[in-house]
Amino acid sequence: MGESDRLVEELEGVLPGRVTRNVGSYLKDWWPFTWIADEPLGSAIAAVKPSNVDEVAALVKFASANHVPLYVRGGGSSVTGASIPSKGIVVDMQSMDQVLDLDEQNRSVTVQGGTRLKLLEDKLKAKGFSLFQTPQSFDMVTVGGYVSTLGTGQFRSNSSIRLQRNVDSSQPAGRCRACVRGRVEFGRCIHNPVR
Ligand SMILES: Cc1cc2nc3c(=O)[nH]c(=O)nc-3n(C[C@H](O)[C@H](O)[C@H](O)COP(=O)(O)OP(=O)(O)OC[C@H]3O[C@@H](n4cnc5c(N)ncnc54)[C@H](O)[C@@H]3O)c2cc1C
Repeated sequence: MGESDRLVEELEGVLPGRVTRNVGSYLKDWWPFTWIADEPLGSAIAAVKPSNVDEVAALVKFASANHVPLYVRGGGSSVTGASIPSKGIVVDMQSMDQVLDLDEQNRSVTVQGGTRLKLLEDKLKAKGFSLFQTPQSFDMVTVGGYVSTLGTGQFRSNSSIRLQRNVDSSQPAGRCRACVRGRVEFGRCIHNPVR
């Protein structure tokens, strides 16, 4: 058994049911260069889909102890190759998509990092609010990816939206940052904001 297989087997023991060796879909994003490359640009020994903060922490601890790099992935909509891994473990955040707290008075919502903007907007809209964030990749983007890439898509220059970076992160020895939880401010929904 090779070193990679041994590591993945050990990881499966640490996070049962969360690990896949089928990493093909993670080896590309929306970077146009991947469309003309002759072979996949990235590589990974496994991908893990944590479902809560404890699992993220266990994964970070495992990677740190075994000196394996982690590649956090949100919606995979990066256009620069930023979400393509290289010889490590992909952390697929998409199972962490819970809206944890919605504070209407302070126009602030606390969400898990894998929450898609579209899902968050739907929840806010139901209460008469809006994120006022509409990147063209709106239905693909996660809050963690958007914060990490300093995403833009504000459709009102005086929008009160501020995405706050990395409120809750896992950082053993200061080497790993994963936005597993973040606060987002939002505004009162205007049905015709362009007017
Ligand atoms: C058709 C199209 C249109 C686009 N239009 C816009 C636009 O209008 N405005 C704009 O700003 N961008 C746009 N983009 C680019 C892209 O959508 C943004 O960069 C987006 O913010 C990436 O979010 P994601 O969740 O897909 O992140 P990913 O692509 O998965 O990851 C991007 C980076 O963020 C990191 N990351 C992801 N999740 C986390 C996390 N939880 N914690 C820490 N790091 C994390 C990754 O490691 C990677 O480095 C567009 C892309 C496409 C394909």
